[in-house]
Amino acid sequence: MSSKSAVISVIGSLNVDLVTRTPRVPVAGETLTTESFNTGFGGKGANQAVACARLSRTQKQASNKEASDVEVRMVGAVGDDEFHEGFLKSLQADGLGTKGVKILKGKKTGVAVIVVETGTGENRIMFCPGANYDVQVEDLVDDDAAVVLFQLELPLQVVLYNMNLAREKGAETIINPAPAIPLPDEAYRGLGHLIVNETEAATLSGIENPTSWDEVASVFINRGVKNVIITLGGEGVYYRTDKQHAKEQPGQIVPARKVQVVDTTAAGDTFVGAYSVAVARWRSSAQTTEFDLDSAIRNANLAASLTVQKAGAQSSIPWVDEVSSS
Ligand code: ADP
Repeated sequence: MSSKSAVISVIGSLNVDLVTRTPRVPVAGETLTTESFNTGFGGKGANQAVACARLSRTQKQASNKEASDVEVRMVGAVGDDEFHEGFLKSLQADGLGTKGVKILKGKKTGVAVIVVETGTGENRIMFCPGANYDVQVEDLVDDDAAVVLFQLELPLQVVLYNMNLAREKGAETIINPAPAIPLPDEAYRGLGHLIVNETEAATLSGIENPTSWDEVASVFINRGVKNVIITLGGEGVYYRTDKQHAKEQPGQIVPARKVQVVDTTAAGDTFVGAYSVAVARWRSSAQTTEFDLDSAIRNANLAASLTVQKAGAQSSIPWVDEVSSS
C-alpha cells in the first residue's frame, strides 16, 4: 500500500436502537403503558466508527467540519426507510465520511428493539439485521484505506472477502470479532490486530478455561495474527505480539483505571476506536520505528475508562480532548 494518508475504513453494521423502558414486560395480549421510549444510532460498526472519529478530532473540529489528521469512513448498508437520513447526518456530525454507506432500495435499516425492564434491570433485545445482511460481497469495498477495521455483524463472507482485499492492498487489518463465532483459518493469516474480550477469546480459541492468557494468545499467533489484544473488563487489557511469542516472552497486562463505573456499554467499542486511531497515525508516519503497541493500549485503556463513567452507548464515547484532559 503506497498511500501515506491516515484513512481508517470501518466495514461494519449500522443499526437503530429502539429502546422502551418499562416496569415490567406485558403478558401475551396485554397493552401496557411504559415509562419512556428513545431511539439511538448504533451497531458495532457504527459505534466503532464514531469512536475512531471522536478519538481523532475535537467536537469543535467536527462541528466546524475541520479536517483532522485521521480520516474515518463508515462502510456499510442501510435501507431507504425513515431512519437512514438521520443516521447518516448523525455520523457526519461526528466527522465521519459516509460515502461508503450504501442505501439499499426497498430494504430496511437494521433495528434492535430493546426492552429494558426497570423493575428487574433485565434487557430483552430483538434484533433484525435488515440491510446489514442484504449486502453482497462486492457492495462494501473501500480500496484505498491504510487501516481497515472489521467486526462480525455483517455476513461472514462479506467480512472475509474484505479482509483478504485489504491484506492484498497492504492495508493494516484490525478485527474485533463480535458477536463471536469460530472463524476459518484464512481470517487469521496475516491479520495485523485481533482485539477480543474474554468471551470472544474463549469462543475463537476453543479454550474455555485457559491456564494463562499466553496460552490463548499463542493459539491466535500460531494461526498468523501479529498482535493479540484481550480486553479484560475491569481487570484491564492483556497483549502479546508475534515477536514476543517467537522469543517465548510472556504478554503484558495493563491494569484498568480505577474509576466510578456507571455503565460499561461501548467500553469495548471505545477501546477499539482509540487503538485503531493509533494504528492509523503510525501507518501515516514514516514508520521508521515499530508500532508502539504499549502506548496504543494504554491510551485506549484510558479512553475506555471515560466511557464506563457515563450511561449510554454512542453518547458515552469521548472526544479526543476529553481523553487528553483526563
Ligand atoms: P467489551 O465491552 O467488548 O466486553 P471489556 O468489558 O473487556 O470489553 O472492556 C473493554 C475495555 O474497557 C477494558 O479493557 C478497559 O480498558 C475498559 N473497562 C471496562 N470495564 C472497566 C471498568 N470497570 N473500569 C475501568 N475500565 C474498564
